[in-house]
Amino acid sequence: MKRTVEIAGGGIAGLTTGLAFAQKGWRVRVHEQESALRILGAGIYIWENGLRVLDGLGVLARVTAGAIPASRHEKRNHNGSAFASSRVGQDFRLYVPLRETLLTVLHEALVATGGEVVFNSRAVAAGPDGWLHFEDGSSRHADLVVGADGVNSPVRDSLGLLKWRRPANQFGYRAMIRRESNELETAVGQAHCENWNGSRRLLYAPCTAELAYVQLTSLAGDSSGNAVPIDRGFWRALFPHLGWIIDRIPDDGRGDRFEIIRLEGWSSGRVAIVGDAASAQPPFLGQGGGCAMMSAFVLAHMIDREGDVLDGIAAWEMQERPFTEWIQRIAYWYGQLALLPASARTAVCKALNASEWVKRQTLLAAACRDVTAPRRISPSPASNAPIYPLMH
Ligand SMILES: Cc1cc2nc3c(=O)[nH]c(=O)nc-3n(C[C@H](O)[C@H](O)[C@H](O)COP(=O)(O)OP(=O)(O)OC[C@H]3O[C@@H](n4cnc5c(N)ncnc54)[C@H](O)[C@@H]3O)c2cc1C
Repeated sequence: MKRTVEIAGGGIAGLTTGLAFAQKGWRVRVHEQESALRILGAGIYIWENGLRVLDGLGVLARVTAGAIPASRHEKRNHNGSAFASSRVGQDFRLYVPLRETLLTVLHEALVATGGEVVFNSRAVAAGPDGWLHFEDGSSRHADLVVGADGVNSPVRDSLGLLKWRRPANQFGYRAMIRRESNELETAVGQAHCENWNGSRRLLYAPCTAELAYVQLTSLAGDSSGNAVPIDRGFWRALFPHLGWIIDRIPDDGRGDRFEIIRLEGWSSGRVAIVGDAASAQPPFLGQGGGCAMMSAFVLAHMIDREGDVLDGIAAWEMQERPFTEWIQRIAYWYGQLALLPASARTAVCKALNASEWVKRQTLLAAACRDVTAPRRISPSPASNAPIYPLMH
């Protein structure tokens, strides 16, 4: 008899969880409330940790096909001068594929492995004994239920797992722009770059030879910065030398306010909560999706290794939760740099950039984590606790 998992949510977390379990021989059904995959016109940063999960699932080459490997990550001030620059390379890779590509590849691989994705299927609640309940009044029972239904997760809330939910007081507008072939030859056109002016930020990230991902970030309540469609004149005045980017930003991008979510626990009985439903974070490290993929991968590994669903869930939560909460905390504090005067922010960024210790504890801790190497997957809390303290 195959073991069964019912998953609410067909985003990055739900599809990765589904594929990981399908590859371990489980019967997988993913329920997505929309009528198709929820495709955003945006790119997604996938650092080494997420790339390794995709490799472990056998889909890395398809997700990164056509995507340009990053070689440098920079921070520049409003007049274009760089105040921090990090190398990105073979041991510390970064790709920014289209979200559409990531979701489509995960979906196709899941179906090819025997999994099923049911569209127009909205979950409304779950029971710790392994029931998932739907809006149309039907219910399904499984060995394992997964709530991967995003920040507003009804599955999580039906189990009373939410501890707190806080706005991160910032807003981001995301869109894709076309790239001209000559931009591939210039330093600015090649680099992944955060351009700062006061509390506003313009992120430019090359995705493919033809497309780049742009994110405009401002404090929540900044009426010009938060405007959708964007206030082109306002952004041009902030970054006059980046008019070539701003003029190409389409009006149909997406604006979001960032949030942080913290749970009492990541599970209740046979129900596990994965991805933004458990651990939404502001996107300043580009790790929300990476944490979701690692969590999904380790959940399947732990349950498979332990044999018993409840033991596997306990081992998974013990390993992944402290780490993910540590990354949430770093993402939050990194975002607070927007509140500093420019000179103080530049000084802090230079100091952070110069410290190997800080990098190892922060970005590298996340970006170079390998949850696919069996020797590194350890349920021991002792090895994790001092480095990744739980945030309350
Ligand atoms: C501006 C911004 C930029 C970001 N950039 C990056 C980045 O570069 N790199 C990175 O790693 N992360 C990034 N993130 C974070 C990343 O997008 C999220 O962490 C990731 O999408 C979480 O995936 P998820 O599947 O948990 O949730 P979601 O992507 O929200 O997917 C949830 C899915 O569940 C469905 N659903 C919801 N409710 C139900 C229900 N009741 N029943 C059935 N289905 C349901 C939804 O329709 C959706 O398809 C960014 C986030 C933001 C806001």
